[in-house]
Amino acid sequence: MSELHKFMFDGLPVRGSLVRLTDAWQELLARRGASTAYALPVQQLLGEMAAAAVLMQSGIKFDGALVLQIAGDGPVTLAVVEVQSDLGLRAMASVTGTVDASASLSQMVNCQGRGRCAITLDAQSRQPGQPPYQGIVPLQDGQHCYEQVSEVLQHYMRQSEQLDTTLVLAANAELAAGLMLQRLPLGGAANLARHAQVSDDDDALARLDYQRIALLASSLKAQELLELDAHTVLHRLFWQEDLRLLDHDGKRPHFSCRCSRQRVEKMLLGLGWDEVHSVLQERGQVEVGCEFCGQQYQFDVVDAAALFKPADLRPQADAGMH
Ligand SMILES: [Zn+2]
Repeated sequence: MSELHKFMFDGLPVRGSLVRLTDAWQELLARRGASTAYALPVQQLLGEMAAAAVLMQSGIKFDGALVLQIAGDGPVTLAVVEVQSDLGLRAMASVTGTVDASASLSQMVNCQGRGRCAITLDAQSRQPGQPPYQGIVPLQDGQHCYEQVSEVLQHYMRQSEQLDTTLVLAANAELAAGLMLQRLPLGGAANLARHAQVSDDDDALARLDYQRIALLASSLKAQELLELDAHTVLHRLFWQEDLRLLDHDGKRPHFSCRCSRQRVEKMLLGLGWDEVHSVLQERGQVEVGCEFCGQQYQFDVVDAAALFKPADLRPQADAGMH
C-alpha cells in the first residue's frame, strides 16, 4: 500500500514528509499498457514528479487539485501529475521520438533551454472564468541546466513560495518515493518558539537549525530511498533528533482518474459537429482514449448525433441561408 508520513522536529522550525507510492504508482504504469510503456528515464522523471506532487499537496491546506507539469522542448513534450486533496493521483507523459536509455533530464525536456516547470493550484471553489493560481520556473538557472527534478522544485519553492525546501526523490518500476523538508516561517501560525516578535538572531538560529536537518536529509541516496522502509530511512537520517511523527489523517495516496463519458462529450461538443462528423464518416465511430487511465470512450453515429442540437447537425455551408 502507498504511504505518506508527516513529521516535525521538537522545538525546531522544520517540518517533513516522506512518501512511498507503491500500488498507486504500479497501477499508473500498468494502465499505460506494455505497448506504450515509458522508456526508463521518462518513467523515473514521472515517478519523481508524482512523489513530489503528493508531498507538496499534502503540505498545503487547500481543497482542489495540485498539478505539477513540465513542458519540454525535447522528446518529452509534456509530463504532468495531478494530485487531489484526498491524495488521489494520476499522471502521464507525452513522448515524441525516442528517449535514449541514458538520457538526462535536460536531454529529455530542456534541449534548447525552453523547458518550463509549472505548478497550478486549481481550487474546488474556483468560479468559472476565474483563472487558477499558477507559478512557472525555467529548468535552468542562468547557464546551469538542472539535471534533477528535485533541483527544479527546490528552485521553484524558493522563487515562487519563498520557502526553503529540501527534496530527495527516486523512482523505479515498483516504487516512486520522496522525502521533503521545509523550513517553517518564524512568527507564523506554526511558530514553535512562541516568540511574539521574531528578531534577526532568532531568524539566523532557525536557518542554522534548518541547514543542519537539511544537510542530514540530503545525505540520503536515491537507492536507500528505494530499498529501505520509511521508518528505517527516518531513523538512519535523524536518530539524533527529536523527531515526532504526526498523526495519520487517514489520507492515503491512491490512483484515481477524473475522466468520464460526460467530460468526453463536452470535449466533442467543443470540437463541433463538422469535425466529429468527418471522423464518423471515416471510421464509423469516434473513439476517445483517456491518456491518464487508458479508459476508451466510444461514440457511434447515433450517440454522436444525440449530443448535438438539431441545428448543429446541418452542414456548415447551410449556415446563414435562412
Ligand atoms: Zn481517465
